[in-house]
Amino acid sequence: MILLDRVTKTYDKNHNPALNRVSLHISPKEFVILVGTSGAGKSTLLKLLTREEKPSSGKIVVGGIDYDTLKDKHIPLLRRKIGVVFQDFKLLPQRTVFENVAFALEIAGMTNREIKTTVPKVIELVGLKGKEKSFPHQLSGGERQRVAIARAIVRQPKILVADEPTGNLDPKHSWDIVKLLEKINKYGTTVLLTTHNAEIVNKLKRRVVVLEHGKITSDQVQGSYKQ
Ligand code: ADP
Repeated sequence: MILLDRVTKTYDKNHNPALNRVSLHISPKEFVILVGTSGAGKSTLLKLLTREEKPSSGKIVVGGIDYDTLKDKHIPLLRRKIGVVFQDFKLLPQRTVFENVAFALEIAGMTNREIKTTVPKVIELVGLKGKEKSFPHQLSGGERQRVAIARAIVRQPKILVADEPTGNLDPKHSWDIVKLLEKINKYGTTVLLTTHNAEIVNKLKRRVVVLEHGKITSDQVQGSYKQ
């Protein structure tokens, strides 16, 4: 569960807040699309969830963790609950597909044996079987994003946050990535997707939350979006 209760984030006192008394409730296993023009506050909202930023006021609770009482030493535990995917993939260029995904498990202290059984399953799930030994530069944009998604879900987070994951992709690859996010959601992961792409939003027929100037101006179960 994700809960924001009247959350305000002000970076700079001379400017309007990036988020202004935003309240939002997302149930476990929901698929939610967050839309809004550039500067609306989408990234800020995601950064508050991952604790890269702290709110100026308001309450945030994610997966039973109340951020008011969250100690810095427990942030890794929180981040294990939230997988994140970005527009620019953020892969390690000198490592293969297998190694990029395995890296997330290595830093979590998993044994080699566990890594060898877990990573191939996730690579297969995202549709990259046979590409284990490829390096990022040998892959298409869509394939790179699949690697990033595999890395984000390999530790089985409860929530997957995808920040403009199709921003660098053509329409065909974009839709494939969105279908993959739907598949991951079907297996029980909450998905929070931000996008500018009205076509994707309208095709998905999912809950759509619209942010404008730091405020939620619309929240509809089968929402649509006009740019
Ligand atoms: P979006 O992701 O919807 O484009 P952002 O959350 O990045 O929107 O930005 C919302 C507002 O907050 C913008 O006016 C932006 O300039 C401002 N902002 C974002 N990050 C910072 C920061 N680190 N310092 C100061 N202002 C920021």
